Amino acid sequence: MTCSSCLAQFGRMGKRLDGPARFPAKLTLPKRKRAPCRAPAPRMNRAAAGLEERRVLEDNTPHLDTPPAPVVVSYGGGTNSTALLIGMVERGEPVDLILFADTGGERPDTYEYVRRFSKWLAARDYPSITVVWSVTKNGDRLTLEQRSLGRGMLPSKAYGYSKCSLRFKRDPQNKFVNNWPPAQGRWRNGGKVVKAIGFDADEPGRASRMRSVVDPKYLYVYPLIEWQWGREECEEVIRRAGLPQPGKSSCFFCPSMKPPEILALARCYPDLAARALALEDAARPGLKGTMRGLGRDWAWSDFLKADRLQQKMFKQPMSEACACFDGWNDPAEDRRRLAALLPVVR
Ligand code: SF4
Repeated sequence: MTCSSCLAQFGRMGKRLDGPARFPAKLTLPKRKRAPCRAPAPRMNRAAAGLEERRVLEDNTPHLDTPPAPVVVSYGGGTNSTALLIGMVERGEPVDLILFADTGGERPDTYEYVRRFSKWLAARDYPSITVVWSVTKNGDRLTLEQRSLGRGMLPSKAYGYSKCSLRFKRDPQNKFVNNWPPAQGRWRNGGKVVKAIGFDADEPGRASRMRSVVDPKYLYVYPLIEWQWGREECEEVIRRAGLPQPGKSSCFFCPSMKPPEILALARCYPDLAARALALEDAARPGLKGTMRGLGRDWAWSDFLKADRLQQKMFKQPMSEACACFDGWNDPAEDRRRLAALLPVVR
């Protein structure tokens, strides 16, 4: 039997307590609205998203008065990390530090976007974006373009490695956090700094690799996966915030750029395209085997000289995206980096 008060309480949800329930003959359920920014994306469980680990860590916190773990976001200037920060602002989630590593080779529109988004964050009482960069042993600023020209080499992505993003994006951010007092305090107390990573729910491959990551300093969390936001939802939330789409952010000479992006670069920023070709020229004498230039087995200079029909014959770069550093210290990447160095070390 179901008493009337239970019916009042549960009837609308159609919850059956015991025996045949005396629900109204026709139950009208309120229509469920589709939650904004929840897409039919590959599902990740909470443990995979790093959330269980975070809870366990918090439960094990030895003293109640231990300050909460500082939260760092690595901002890449692209769609995912922009949506990630907007989502955190919308939910009132704490963010203590936002870092953007400038390789010195971003496109002007990316720099402009970073400035604009930084103001947007500050206007909502969130930290503005801290820009960090690589320096030489003497402490002078070093850009990836300078380094490539100085060594007569292409960015390492052209040779199939990610050393350029590790050296010019990951290392300056890690160095900054290593000297950041809230992180130092946290590490002294045996805790970890929380790092929010902008892997989205459409990237199950990248997300599954994260399961094995145990970093002694950082605890990685993946809010976009937790919120089930794929690319579409990320773009939607940026629109909703009244901001323009950031577009792709990468170095203007990134070997992972696709032919249409190279053409757009030459059209919108001919000066930058000329600098990319100069970088290719400087590296040409050292290229071996099938390597021809920034397109790996083809040169950007040949591509840009070709007519429209010929341009269709140039291969797309192997990888979909440059997968440049997005805040995650990938141990497998470290191993690849080390393997790449070994012949030199010997
Ligand atoms: S954008 Fe491309 S060239 Fe620049 S650091 Fe990343 S992988 Fe290297």
